[in-house]
Amino acid sequence: MSSVTLHNVNKVYADGLHAVRGVSIEVADGELVVLVGPSGCGKSTTLRMIAGLEEITSGEVRIGERVVNGVAPGKRDIAMVFQNYALYPHMTARKNMAFGLRMRRTPKREIERRVGEAAALLGIEELLDRRPGQLSGGQRQRVAVGRAIVREPAVFLFDEPLSNLDAKLRGDMRTELAALHRRLGATMIYVTHDQVEAMTLGDRLVLMNEGVVQQVGPPLEVYRRPANRFVASFIGNPAMNLLEGRVEAGLFTAGQARCPAPRVPDGPAVLGVRPEDVTIGAVEGERLATARVAAVEPLGHETLVHCRLGDSEWIARIDAGAGAPPIGEAVALSADGDRVHYFAATASGERLGPVD
Ligand code: ADP
Repeated sequence: MSSVTLHNVNKVYADGLHAVRGVSIEVADGELVVLVGPSGCGKSTTLRMIAGLEEITSGEVRIGERVVNGVAPGKRDIAMVFQNYALYPHMTARKNMAFGLRMRRTPKREIERRVGEAAALLGIEELLDRRPGQLSGGQRQRVAVGRAIVREPAVFLFDEPLSNLDAKLRGDMRTELAALHRRLGATMIYVTHDQVEAMTLGDRLVLMNEGVVQQVGPPLEVYRRPANRFVASFIGNPAMNLLEGRVEAGLFTAGQARCPAPRVPDGPAVLGVRPEDVTIGAVEGERLATARVAAVEPLGHETLVHCRLGDSEWIARIDAGAGAPPIGEAVALSADGDRVHYFAATASGERLGPVD
């Protein structure tokens, strides 16, 4: 097992596109770190530079103590699992899993032992003599993960491994991968655009946008204290409600909406409240604004109430049993003071406090 360190890593593609900008990440030995962000933000490029499949334009990648910038992929002691499985169609699952070891001239008995152990771990012993065409998507992905496990690499790299699976299977495989990580205690770097995978799988997540790291931290910390407006709106579903306005002398205002903003500097600002932190109905002293109910979505375990607030739409997440207000009704929206976030009204939109 091994740590992975990226120091000020950049990737400029031949066409001049600066896809990864000054990325520095430290993945500890045995840690599972998720790289997450919207499509095109540079996640795969970053992972492929760690794997050696993409040249590093500048900066340094280390696996353990060793700088691997110039090291060929096969010599980096990593194993990668891809979205499209990349299995050989004419080989059985067993041969697919054994292939890399055979190429490295691992003794036959050792190959059999490792393939047997990995198959048992993944529950695919019965499937070892089938070819990929005779396996379901989930089974194929297990074989692809098995092929990585038998290599006993220092680092596992996953590039959107579950994206080709249906929602139910994706959920199951997510749980399996988390369990696998705990059992192997292996260093893993996992790329996904799916924030649910990022929240549930990672010890820490690294959130990227436009080639730049926006925030690094444990999932719940990122959820509770987003570093900027981009993070606030990317993590969380439905997204955090936002309202553009001004702060003056500790008071935020936007149209008729107002909210105490202690320790937030005067000037333009964006207020943010997560849907679960919005209360419908006036709470003494905490009323934020009056809004009109535009739509109600009962989801069974909870209800989403969409409200028009000035030019923006706000969503309140309420208990299914709480009784939603009728569409068209004017309601008071409230939020607990310590659940209100403020961001700069600039392109970077950094968090403005309150300062802890
Ligand atoms: P993500 O994995 O976050 O979806 P990628 O790392 O695949 O993003 O891509 C980052 C940016 O680099 C995108 O704008 C993409 O179009 C571009 N890109 C990816 N591969 C190449 C390439 N081989 N040549 C030029 N541009 C590329």
